[in-house]
Amino acid sequence: MKHKQVCPDCSGYGILKDDRGLDEICRKCAGKGFIFFRSREKVFATRFMKLVLFSVLFLIIFYILFVVYITTFKADFTIEIIILFIGHAALATVLISYLMIKSLYEGKNGA
Ligand SMILES: [Zn+2]
Repeated sequence: MKHKQVCPDCSGYGILKDDRGLDEICRKCAGKGFIFFRSREKVFATRFMKLVLFSVLFLIIFYILFVVYITTFKADFTIEIIILFIGHAALATVLISYLMIKSLYEGKNGA
C-alpha cells in the first residue's frame, strides 16, 4: 500500500534553492511537492526480496568460483567439502548479522 507525504526536501514547494540561490526543481519529488512511501509490510517485503536476491547472487558467484577452483586445481574431495561448507557458513553468518543489525537499529528508533 502506498501513502502520500509532503516532500521532506522541499517542504511541498517542489522547488529548491541551489548553492547559487537559483531555483531548482526538487530531485526527490521531481517538482511535485509530495512523495509516495510504502507501508511497513511492503518495506519488509522489498527488504526480504533484497536479502533473497543477495543470497542467490552470492551462491551463484560462489558456485562459479568453486567449479573454476576444482577444475583448475583438481582439489581433493575433503577440501571441496570444506570449501562448500565455509561458503555456506559465510553466507549464513552475513545474513544473520544483517538481520540482527537491522532489528537492533529499528528497535532503537522505534520504527
Ligand atoms: Zn521535493
